[in-house]
Amino acid sequence: MSKHDVLIIGGGHNGLVAACYLAKAGKKVLVLEANSEIGGASTSEYVFAGLEAKLSRYSYLVSLLPDQIIKELGLNFECISRKISSYTPYEKSGNDAGLLVKRVWDESNVQSFNQLTGSDIEGQAWQRFYDQVSQFAQVIAPTLLQPLPTKSEVKSKLNDDLVWQMLIEQSLGETLDQYFKDDLVKGVVLTDGLIGTFASAYEMQSNICFLYHLIGNGTGEWKVPKGGMGALTYELHQKALSLGVEIKVNSKVKSIDAQSLQVVVEVENGEKFEGSYLLSNAAPQILAQLLGNEQPKSLEGSQVKLNMLLKKLPKFKSGVDAKDAFVGTLHINESFTQLEKAYKQANSGVFPDELPLEMYCHSLSDNSILSDDLNQKGFHTLTIFALHTPAKLFDLEPAKTKELAKQRALSALNQYLVEPVESCLASDVNGDLCIEVKSPIDLENEIFLPRGNIFHKDLSLPFKEDGSEIKWGVETDHPRVFLCGAGAIRGGGVSGIAGHNAAMAVLELN
Ligand SMILES: Cc1cc2nc3c(=O)[nH]c(=O)nc-3n(C[C@H](O)[C@H](O)[C@H](O)COP(=O)(O)OP(=O)(O)OC[C@H]3O[C@@H](n4cnc5c(N)ncnc54)[C@H](O)[C@@H]3O)c2cc1C
Repeated sequence: MSKHDVLIIGGGHNGLVAACYLAKAGKKVLVLEANSEIGGASTSEYVFAGLEAKLSRYSYLVSLLPDQIIKELGLNFECISRKISSYTPYEKSGNDAGLLVKRVWDESNVQSFNQLTGSDIEGQAWQRFYDQVSQFAQVIAPTLLQPLPTKSEVKSKLNDDLVWQMLIEQSLGETLDQYFKDDLVKGVVLTDGLIGTFASAYEMQSNICFLYHLIGNGTGEWKVPKGGMGALTYELHQKALSLGVEIKVNSKVKSIDAQSLQVVVEVENGEKFEGSYLLSNAAPQILAQLLGNEQPKSLEGSQVKLNMLLKKLPKFKSGVDAKDAFVGTLHINESFTQLEKAYKQANSGVFPDELPLEMYCHSLSDNSILSDDLNQKGFHTLTIFALHTPAKLFDLEPAKTKELAKQRALSALNQYLVEPVESCLASDVNGDLCIEVKSPIDLENEIFLPRGNIFHKDLSLPFKEDGSEIKWGVETDHPRVFLCGAGAIRGGGVSGIAGHNAAMAVLELN
C-alpha cells in the first residue's frame, strides 16, 4: 500500500489548491479523482460536436477567488471586468424598455432608474444599499484566508449597527422592503441571495447566500475567467504537477478507515492508499457516507443550467444593443414578486410558470473560448442559470421536466426578443441544435453534487459563534480528516478558500 503525507478525495479546484499549498510546504500529496477528468464543477469543455467552442460547463464567473491565492501559487490566471453589471428588460405601458446598470455608477444609471421608477429615489437607495454592503465586504474579505473570526469580532470591526442589522439580524426580504419600493429593483437585488439557494427572501439562508455573492475580494465584483473556468483548473493542475503532486483519475473512493493513526482509503478498483491526513474535496454528505456516519442535512440544489452556442445574438424589442444586454447579467422574470411566487410554487411541487433566469454571454468579454472561424462568423456562447427548480421537481420524470425547463426558459427570454432565440441557435455537425440542459439530478450523476447542490451543502455565515472551538471551518469529528471543498465553512463557489484553509489546518499540526 503506497503511503503519503496527505490524501485528497476529489480533484475539484479546491482539492488542487489544497494539494498545491501542501506540496509547496514539502508534503507528499495524492489526489484521488472519481471522474476521468479533474476540475469538478470548474471545467471547460467542447460541448457541441464538431464545433470549437469551449464552454464553462458548470460554474462560469469568478468573484470569490482571493487574489492572494493566485499570487501565492503563481497562477497564470486572469479575470476580466465587465463594464455592465446587469440588464433587466421590462414592459411598461405597452412599451419595451430595460434597466441597464453599469458597474461604475454614472448618469446613464441615474436615467435608467428614472425611466423605470419615475424618480431619483430608487437609484439613490441602490447606491446607499450597496455602499453599506461594501462596508461589510471590506471587513470580511481579509479574514477569509485566516482562522475564522468570531461573530463579536466581526461586529466590532464593522462598527455599524445599522449594517449589521440589515445583513445579519433581519432577513434579506425585510431589508429590501425597507430600502426599496420598486418590485423589479428589489428583485434584481434579491437574486444574489438565491443563486444556488432554494429559499424565500424572508429566510435567513438568503442572507448568507447574498453575502457570499457580495464579499469577493472586498468588492463583490463578478468577473469573466479568461479562457473559461477550465483555465483555472488547467493552471492549478500544471502547478500541482510541477510541485510533485500525484493525481489519479478514475479513482472513486468507496470507503475510508480513519480509526488508527493513519487514514486508509479504498478506491473502487480495490486499490488502497494510506495517509497521515485526509482531506475531502467531496461534499460533507459523501464524506459522512464514506466514514459510515450520518449525513448532514442540507437544502437540495435548485437550479437548471442551459449552455448554448448561437450563430448570432438575438435582437431585443427594447432596442438595447444585444452586446450590452448580454455582456453583464441579464435578468428575466426576477421581480421580487415573481421570485417569491416561483419559490412558493416550486416548494409546493409545481414547476414555476414564470421561471426566473440569469443569463450571460462569455464570448462578448473573452472570445478566446471560440475558434477564429467561429469568431469570424459572429458566433457567441449563451449561459442561462434558472432559479427555483429544486431537485425534487425532477425526481419523477427527469427527462420530461428538463424539457419543460428548457421550454419555459426559452419562452421567458423570447418575450423580450424581436426574433425567438431558437432561430439564433447554431447546429452541430450532426445537425442538432447547440443547447444542453443540466438539471440538479444531472449534477449529482456527473460531478457528485449531492441533490445537485452547487455549494455541496448549505452555505454558512463566514464567522463562528463566540466561544466556538472551530479554528479554520474545515474540521470534522475526526482529528486527521478535514474538509477542503465547498462544504467547508466559507467554502462555496469558485474560491480556493476551503482548499487553502484545509492546507493551513494540516500544516499547523506539523
Ligand atoms: C451549474 C453550476 C454553476 C455554478 N456557477 C458558479 C459561478 O459562476 N461562480 C462560482 O463561484 N461558483 C459557481 N458554482 C459553484 C462552484 O462551482 C462550486 O461551489 C465549486 O466548484 C466547488 O469546488 P470544489 O472544488 O469545492 O468542489 P467540486 O468542484 O464539486 O469538486 C469536487 C470533486 O470531488 C470529486 N469526488 C466526489 N466524490 C468523490 C469520490 N468518492 N472519490 C473521488 N472523487 C470524488 C468530484 O468528481 C469533483 O471532481 C456553480 C456550480 C454549478 C454546478
